[in-house]
Amino acid sequence: MSDIKVRGLTKNFGNVRVLAGLDLDVAAGELVAVLGPSGCGKTTLLRLLAGFEEADAGTITVGERTVSGPSIHVPPHRRGLAVVPQEGALFPHLSVAANVGFGLPRGEREGPRVTQLLDIAGLTTLARRMPHELSGGQQQRVAVARALAPSPAVVLLDEPFSGLDAALRATIRAEVLEMLRAAGTTAVLVTHDQEEALSLADHVAIMRNGAIVQQGSPAHVYNAPADLEVAAFLGDTNVLPGSARDALVTCVLGRIPTAPGTPDGDVAVLIRPEQLTLGDGKPAAVLERRYYGHDTVLRVQLVSGEQLLVRSTLDTVAAVGSTVLLSVTGTAYCYPVGI
Ligand code: ATP
Repeated sequence: MSDIKVRGLTKNFGNVRVLAGLDLDVAAGELVAVLGPSGCGKTTLLRLLAGFEEADAGTITVGERTVSGPSIHVPPHRRGLAVVPQEGALFPHLSVAANVGFGLPRGEREGPRVTQLLDIAGLTTLARRMPHELSGGQQQRVAVARALAPSPAVVLLDEPFSGLDAALRATIRAEVLEMLRAAGTTAVLVTHDQEEALSLADHVAIMRNGAIVQQGSPAHVYNAPADLEVAAFLGDTNVLPGSARDALVTCVLGRIPTAPGTPDGDVAVLIRPEQLTLGDGKPAAVLERRYYGHDTVLRVQLVSGEQLLVRSTLDTVAAVGSTVLLSVTGTAYCYPVGI
């Protein structure tokens, strides 16, 4: 189990800068999700961590050892890292047990470590099957067991659940998380799936244009996003103009307490749809209603014209065309405008 420190990591392909002085911290034993839109450089970051590519500048330290830095490039097999690639990429001609044992020294490939990993992964009864005889979820568990077998200091997971259908994904995610926890390994997961990052990781690092723009607990990045772009990337948002003063912001929804540190002045006020409650407050007409089972999302319009999203868990939410009353719960995050 090792921590990872990345400082100023830079990588260009030709004249395209893909990583632009990226900093990232992963504590020993923790799972960090690197979350960002397609093309922001997530896979490139993972490939640099693994040692498959050389950095143009910056350092990567794993535990006490600098594995990448000025004139240092420790090759992949000497870094003590394991990679779980997209789609698992099992060896098609090897059985489940042989895949799991592949990274071990020759004499240990059928030994107790393989038995242990098969057990942790719930694969004991499938040990003799070939990869094509497994479901997508089972293949993914084999891929994780194979990565964990040599007891790596760090496991790197590259969008490991993207090939699984939605119904299976939640279960396999939970199983994989349990395997990583049982192994006590440090893990970095790259994904463009917000729900995956927020639900699985100890910490989430938000990546944009080749750099980490915010890193924190899932609740912190969701509730206190660094900017409105991060806010919108993590979930639905309502953004209203407001004026902040003395820990309160005045906007079309009234006066709302602000998060600590909000400067006085003109601001953009962020209100998540679930912060709006029905039953009291400002009147709004219901324009649209989307039912999701566990909750319902309404698109409403205030008398002053602003449209808002409201997420409600109430069983009976208003019908399209009716009028609801809205109030805000909790504090609002505000972002200075016009600077
Ligand atoms: P996705 O989620 O779609 O996999 P990503 O965030 O993982 O995207 P990368 O695969 O790291 O992004 O790619 C970032 C950028 O770097 C892209 O514009 C890509 O075209 C470019 N890129 C990646 N690898 C190379 C390469 N070997 N040569 C040239 N350009 C590359």
